[in-house]
Amino acid sequence: MTESGVNLRALRKHNRALLLTEIRRAGGLSRVELADRSGLTAQAVSKIVPELIDAGLLDEERQFDGNVGKPRTQLRIRPGARYALGVQLDRDEVHVVLTDLLGSVLSKTTSRLDRGFSPDDAMSAIADGVDQLTSYLDRAKLLGLGVGALGPLDHHTGVVHHATGLAGWHEVSLRGRLAARTGLAVIVDKDTNTAAFAHQWHAARSPVTTALVLVGTGIGVGLLVDGKLYRGPRTNAGEFGHTTLWFEGPLCKCGRRGCVEVMHNSASTPEEAARLLGIGLADLVQVLDLERIVLAGRSIRAAPELYTSTIAAQLAQQLPVPHWQRITVEVSDLGDDLVAIGAAAEVLAAFYADPR
Ligand SMILES: [Zn+2]
Repeated sequence: MTESGVNLRALRKHNRALLLTEIRRAGGLSRVELADRSGLTAQAVSKIVPELIDAGLLDEERQFDGNVGKPRTQLRIRPGARYALGVQLDRDEVHVVLTDLLGSVLSKTTSRLDRGFSPDDAMSAIADGVDQLTSYLDRAKLLGLGVGALGPLDHHTGVVHHATGLAGWHEVSLRGRLAARTGLAVIVDKDTNTAAFAHQWHAARSPVTTALVLVGTGIGVGLLVDGKLYRGPRTNAGEFGHTTLWFEGPLCKCGRRGCVEVMHNSASTPEEAARLLGIGLADLVQVLDLERIVLAGRSIRAAPELYTSTIAAQLAQQLPVPHWQRITVEVSDLGDDLVAIGAAAEVLAAFYADPR
């Protein structure tokens, strides 16, 4: 194979990915708009678009604007062209969602996990959920399975280093074992990362530096830096729950004292818990120049207004916030499915990067 042949192939893949992603983000585009947004020539667009239509990935819709003249043709992603599965593996349950090619949830299922569940227990629950949601599906259209799990873990190898407080979870090859068990391509990431990725996937294009703060059975943060997910080289970014608020504080399950997580969880009132979280988040704002904090997880869903107002007040008190350092504090609009939606979106993103 010649070098130019390799380059052309890579270019073709890049351009297909670019056009498909622009159409997804916009919801629908004409060919002219597509050329404009992608920076490709009209000729390049008219060569690639029929390939994507032939592959069954795009629909064409004619729109009449009421006046005489040619109807506008809108190109849209065909939602049912492919499917993805997303899993949230939590400390007490497994939640599985099935999404279409746009990342919209089509169906979902939840099963409880007993205390001290083993890797095999978790994988059985995931496999059962997968079977339940895909029994009537054309498996050829199923792109794979994304898992948002408890850390620490390695996103690149799919190995869970250990899950604090769970016996038998030591260097577990979750990706390899789940792939063997389900026959699907598997992606493993921290639950906080998939939660942040869900917001990146569904967000507008403007780069925003965001901390997705997941307050569930533990506390962690997913970081979108300039709009892109930042995992860190060892998938260990965002371990905010185990940063220290008070070094002589109560003992945390991680073995250290006075971590944000243990301080939050042992607070005497919800107001105090939210305030302690706000104190920790003020430091994170200063370190990362955050523009937005998105709150998610069970504790937040139980008292959304209390958390947003208390944290916003704490930030205002602690930070010198002039007009140029605005920060918004909001609750995630993706609800209970957030972590699983993001895990499925990671599978979808791999497809959009190399659509076949
Ligand atoms: Zn800790």
